[in-house]
Amino acid sequence: MNSPVPFPDDLHVHPGPALLSGIAQGPSLPAHRTQYGVVPNVDTRTLTELVTAVGLRGRGGAAFPFAIKLGAVLERAGRTRRPVVVVNASEGEPASSKDTALALTRPHLVLDGAVAAAQALRANKVHVVLPGERPFAAAGLRRALAERDDPVEIVEHTAEPRFVAGQAKAVVELIEGRTNLPVTTWQPEAESGVGGRPTLLSNAETWAHVGLLVHVGATAYRRFGTSGEPGTALLSVTTPDAVPHVHEVEYGARMRDVLPPSVVGAPVLLGGFHGSWATWETVASLRVSVPGMRSLGVALGAGVVHAPGPDACPLAVTVRITDYLASQSARRCGPCLNGLPALALSLHRVLDGSGTRSRVEELASLVVRRGACAHPDGTVRLVRSLFAALPGEILAHAAGGCLAADRSRRLAS
Ligand code: SF4
Repeated sequence: MNSPVPFPDDLHVHPGPALLSGIAQGPSLPAHRTQYGVVPNVDTRTLTELVTAVGLRGRGGAAFPFAIKLGAVLERAGRTRRPVVVVNASEGEPASSKDTALALTRPHLVLDGAVAAAQALRANKVHVVLPGERPFAAAGLRRALAERDDPVEIVEHTAEPRFVAGQAKAVVELIEGRTNLPVTTWQPEAESGVGGRPTLLSNAETWAHVGLLVHVGATAYRRFGTSGEPGTALLSVTTPDAVPHVHEVEYGARMRDVLPPSVVGAPVLLGGFHGSWATWETVASLRVSVPGMRSLGVALGAGVVHAPGPDACPLAVTVRITDYLASQSARRCGPCLNGLPALALSLHRVLDGSGTRSRVEELASLVVRRGACAHPDGTVRLVRSLFAALPGEILAHAAGGCLAADRSRRLAS
């Protein structure tokens, strides 16, 4: 089944203050070295101090503190074998294009971060996972890899074009030569990942932040953002206008400033297909912030902002996304394999006015927290957020109507 937001084959990447500064000079290694110089040699203590000083969080969606992950790798590496470093640029979420933007404009900042960490950890291999469903992004990273001459070996892999293929456990499976799907294991990859080794695995944006930190230091990094949340984040913005946009914004910036006038006034899906719906009033008040957005019941996640516009029905959009997510199950866990299609069907019935919210909730509670990975939980989060944030849309369908046409007329007048 095709994604309701297609995988991009083109992208508008806006220049930004930090990661995306100087992108007009092009993505080549000479241009990158002119801007930043060679990869600095940092030891594990310096690396830990840098990521701790700025409170760097992973940008894959969970906002997990990078220093904790690094600490877990260091602790296990001290007791067992050499660690492994993994750059996950597979970005299985169709509405997310931040790692694609970096592959096209800043591949060497991503690779510098991974290589600096590998050198600090005495890892002798960096694995780079390319997005199978985005050939133009994979080509950008391959061009960059061909230019490198690093003291660590860099090995490339290509992820399958599937939503769950970018999940960390699925990436480890791919690197180990097995099917690129999530598996049940309760040990984090930081303790036991590729080949059972402690594995420092992060998405491309997180590695770009590490690269920037080792090049410019914590003080310069803190010039952007707020005192509590220094730095910047990439936002992938999809609207009814064809090409997705990627913006780099400072923490504390207004979310509404990355949205075009054509979508003002309409509900927005924040955090991607596993994210949460928000009313326009909520979006208009939002500042880009992990804890700030959490306190309002929405998530920054991987920075996905999907604004389908005033004439789109959020319930219909959710039905299409849920259908797609049900089709993307790895078909390994019963609640996911059977539960997600049933959940999707119950939503179809709410859309056509023949089903009830209580049936949807009944099915949601049967699949949540029962999968080997977070795929069912993320799907349920999306569905529940629709009911919580936009109850009027549901009531309108129960009465045989839809708010989209009214909203579109009202906002156009
Ligand atoms: S929860 Fe779903 S996607 Fe995740 S491992 Fe199980 S079947 Fe696969």
